[in-house]
Amino acid sequence: MKIIREVIEELLAISKDNYPLEFVALLRGKKGVIEEYIFLPGTEFGHTSAIFRIDMLPLGQKIHGTFHSHPSTNNHPSQQDLSMFASNGNYHIIAAYPYDMGSWRCYDKLGNEVRIEIIDE
Ligand SMILES: [Zn+2]
Repeated sequence: MKIIREVIEELLAISKDNYPLEFVALLRGKKGVIEEYIFLPGTEFGHTSAIFRIDMLPLGQKIHGTFHSHPSTNNHPSQQDLSMFASNGNYHIIAAYPYDMGSWRCYDKLGNEVRIEIIDE
């Protein structure tokens, strides 16, 4: 899987702006590339809850996974994160404080770390 540099940079910037609140978004794009993110109406923000309303998603969109921020330096998925991952695609990025290029990781739906390549559009 690949992600466009501008997309991950924007997600990190929004995470920083929302700190200490958690920020969540869905990741979408064409096959093999995360090209954009979507905020969903009805998404709840909070330290312990990142709840997606997948029923609010327009039909026909290819969802690769999720992005969310943690208000700490821990970028590992919680049990709650894993249950959210399971039904929202197979690539899940968690960004931790201070939300720079070195503080995020990507996981598959089971919580195993996976590598994502950053590409320039
Ligand atoms: Zn989390």
